[in-house]
Amino acid sequence: MISTCRAALLLLMLFMMGCSHPMKPLDPKGIVDLTHPFSEQTLYWPNAEDFRLEKVFDGPTEKGYHYSANRYQAAEHGGTHMDAPIHFFAGGETVEKVPLDKTIGPGIVVDVSENALKDRDMLVSVADFIAFETRHGPIARHSIVLIRTGYDRFWPSRERYLGTAERGQAAIAKLHFPGLSPAAADWLVKQRAVRAVGLDTASIDRGMSRFFESHRIFAAAGVPIFENLMHLDQLPAKAFEVIALPMKIEGGSGAPLRVVGRPVAP
Ligand SMILES: [Zn+2]
Repeated sequence: MISTCRAALLLLMLFMMGCSHPMKPLDPKGIVDLTHPFSEQTLYWPNAEDFRLEKVFDGPTEKGYHYSANRYQAAEHGGTHMDAPIHFFAGGETVEKVPLDKTIGPGIVVDVSENALKDRDMLVSVADFIAFETRHGPIARHSIVLIRTGYDRFWPSRERYLGTAERGQAAIAKLHFPGLSPAAADWLVKQRAVRAVGLDTASIDRGMSRFFESHRIFAAAGVPIFENLMHLDQLPAKAFEVIALPMKIEGGSGAPLRVVGRPVAP
């Protein structure tokens, strides 16, 4: 009896060890939320105001029922959000005009965290995508390409996530976090016809960028950009779908985003 219990325990332990593998098993029901919560702690660009939630009413009403309601204020380009093409391309689509088949589709995660965590100014290069393809096969056309730098672990520390805790226009020159090289942005558009791109830093162009070339390349190609993602480590490298739904702000250049990944059978 005891030996049966031991054998069962051993099996259970082996099963649990299998589950602790960093790549989660494919579970069609397992939805991974890639969205930071919106609160006073949410990080915005140094010259933008913070997210504000103001209480309108909270408590019992005179008529005896409970009632709770707030109002909020937020910049378009902070927290987990989408950049619409108009953000960096005159005549590009505004938020409400971005087709949903560009924000929902098959995804991949390119993990560059090992190098990115060693170098705040890292530029993700074409070589990083070639390395991904060598390991996982070609990036299918119309994929949503998510880049994992690992910087979501620093959220919500302004200093560690953005490279400076300072605020205001002058602080923009002090930003240091990784991003995508313009050459790689061009390659993703022209050679892999990406549907959308996203990453777990504040901007697709690295903190040091002054001309935002990668933003401009994607915007000109009509490719939406997702920024300030989290939990990309909880997705497999491929065989998942991304569902990204921006708030439908008419005329918006960007919008808060609820974005999830859901593993699917390969
Ligand atoms: Zn943005």
